[in-house]
Amino acid sequence: MNHDESRALYDRALSVIPGGVNSSVRATRPYPFFVQRGDGAHVVDADGNRYIDYVNGYGPLLYGHDLPEPVQSAIQSHAAEGPMYGAPTEIEVDLAEFVARHVPSVEMVRFVNSGTEATVSAVRLARGYTGRDKIVVMQGGYHGAQESTLVEGGPDGAEPSSPGIPSAFAEHTIPVPFNDVDTIEAVFEEHGDDIAAVLTEPILGNTGIVLPVDGYLERLRELTATHDSLLIFDEVITGFRVGGLQCAQGKFGVTPDVTTFGKIVGGGFPVGAIGGKSEIIEQFTPAGEVFQSGTFSGHPVTMAAGYETLKYAAENDVYEHVNRLGERLRRGIAEICADQAPSYTVVGTDSMFKTIFTREGPADADEEGVCDAGCRQRDSCARYEYCPKTGADVADAETERWERIFWQEMKERGIFLTANQFESQFVSYAHTDEDIERTLEAYKEAL
Ligand code: PLP
Repeated sequence: MNHDESRALYDRALSVIPGGVNSSVRATRPYPFFVQRGDGAHVVDADGNRYIDYVNGYGPLLYGHDLPEPVQSAIQSHAAEGPMYGAPTEIEVDLAEFVARHVPSVEMVRFVNSGTEATVSAVRLARGYTGRDKIVVMQGGYHGAQESTLVEGGPDGAEPSSPGIPSAFAEHTIPVPFNDVDTIEAVFEEHGDDIAAVLTEPILGNTGIVLPVDGYLERLRELTATHDSLLIFDEVITGFRVGGLQCAQGKFGVTPDVTTFGKIVGGGFPVGAIGGKSEIIEQFTPAGEVFQSGTFSGHPVTMAAGYETLKYAAENDVYEHVNRLGERLRRGIAEICADQAPSYTVVGTDSMFKTIFTREGPADADEEGVCDAGCRQRDSCARYEYCPKTGADVADAETERWERIFWQEMKERGIFLTANQFESQFVSYAHTDEDIERTLEAYKEAL
């Protein structure tokens, strides 16, 4: 493949954009390809190279790059009527009603402009509602670029994970290992009266894909309820992707107090949202006292894209299609791994998938190689899988091998995967069985 145009664009970008990109995960080595356009399940780069796209904008694109006709025309008519007004519009109410109708935890919802803004507002809301400061987060979890959650460390002490964040933020954050009931119980025993909220993704989606083991989310629900803390599910990735319109909370049958959304709920446009029980969400200004505001919040074009995206998914076989292809891809990759790299792990659920380059082997498998860890993926997972249980399990994998070799090999074969070991990959409604076949062929060669 020729990448001369991309290299020239990167050269220009490096002079005016730090690191040449506007979001750090896009800075692939030795330089990113610059996308010229999307086409169904594919993207075409500035040199005319075509890739099957499993990045899908890091999750927002349920339909890939060709939006269904009702979504397209709603976007265009709202853009044509003047993009925004600084006054409420009907389409915000339509989308809020839709979300409240389908997502178990949501009675009311406030729209914002990014997943980060949603989690920042949710943490402020939890602190305002409970009058407490501490929040518990999962090691390896990600909630966007917010001061309270960019931390490293453990239950005995946390530090900011980036320069520029005062350590006072980390003092109020308690990171714990995901899926570890003993630790979270000990944390509640020691700090229970000071914990405003447990904030977690129901499935860790930014550190490989780590599914909850049986009983873990339920235990979080019990502990938070007993101690009058809030349980916040960050469904920015899983919202309207895992568990269909009910989201991961519907799939797992655990209802949080507050849910944060982003990505798909905006149909491919910048979005975030905070939903939950009315009693809690109404603490936001102007109904309540917890300050929350935004010039672009509830942007009509975004609201139209989100509403029509979800309505189309409710009325068509969207989730059946993406979940079937996701399953086919996971099983196909698992078979290839069993043959060529038996210690590697295929993870995911619904339309999310990833291969983790562990060197541990099927540590939790029984003698037939079937995962024995209580992971809810068991019914659908292929054999020979060693499922990571915590963020650290994934961090121990061969992250450099993914980034420096495997990702490059797949790219050169026309498959666009997420460029590091940690980010999830997604199947869209535009993918076909033929795309999956081609992808599996490429996996076979590259692995
Ligand atoms: N929460 C989760 C679970 C995410 O995956 C992300 C982004 O990937 C965010 C929050 C932040 O969202 P945004 O990048 O829209 O600010």
